[in-house]
Amino acid sequence: MSRFFLIFAALLAFFPDPHARAFCRMTVEEPMPRDGCPAPGTWLEWRRQCISYTLVDRDADESDFEEVRDAADRSFSRWTAVECDDGPLPIELAQTSDLGLCTTAEYNQRSGNANTIYFVDNWLELGLPFDAFGLTMIWHSPEDGEIFDADMQLNETQGRFTVCDDRCEPGTVDLENVITHEAGHFLGLGHSEVSDATMHSRASTGETSKRTLEADDIEGICHIYGDLDAPDCDVSDFQPDHGFSPECAGPEGALPAKNGLCSIGAPAPTPGVAGGFLLALVLVLARRRSKT
Ligand SMILES: [Zn+2]
Repeated sequence: MSRFFLIFAALLAFFPDPHARAFCRMTVEEPMPRDGCPAPGTWLEWRRQCISYTLVDRDADESDFEEVRDAADRSFSRWTAVECDDGPLPIELAQTSDLGLCTTAEYNQRSGNANTIYFVDNWLELGLPFDAFGLTMIWHSPEDGEIFDADMQLNETQGRFTVCDDRCEPGTVDLENVITHEAGHFLGLGHSEVSDATMHSRASTGETSKRTLEADDIEGICHIYGDLDAPDCDVSDFQPDHGFSPECAGPEGALPAKNGLCSIGAPAPTPGVAGGFLLALVLVLARRRSKT
């Protein structure tokens, strides 16, 4: 019977770090440290080169959710736009046209999955690191490090996630700043101690500088995937393991989440009200056409 491990990786808050060190890759070893590289071990990486991600609607009546979807596309495209020594990063990332319906991080071993991005407004009730802006959970093989599934949670108790201008309004958090960082975890990168790197573990409220990648981030992502041949992706190649499903698998199919990373001091946010689920039919996976 297969075993899978879950790794938490958080974008944490505050206090610049004066130390400079190169990128880190996630490994199968636990725990995933907040700063610095994890213990040596088998590196985590996707073996598929055509990978989808799925946004979960934040509010049923949110009229500008297309802006959120576009911000997610811009964030992931920072990584796919990287030029490695042998050419463009040989990974394609595409947002599903269908929205997800599951606000539980899980990997289902028996039926469909989605690599989801969703907003959490009862963060503390879930026991997650209180000062984190985001948390990406990765399910992988403990034997060879292959990543099977990744789910990204965005902590709205830190502020409303929005598309900021050069700097955010008070009480808001920049979507691209956090998603670009978490997308690095999604792809297998750990935290960097280079203080201006997107994969640095700490951020300030209202920050937007992690939207763009730095040399250390580029070196890291090319270290993981730069040697692969260029991908040739059809729509069907973006299907997650066991096909696409926007819905939660339920307790018999899903693996439970495991607590991992802890965090550092920051103003304690106010817990919010738990979000609800929407019910809908399972729709066909398709690549979403970007507006930009
Ligand atoms: Zn992080």
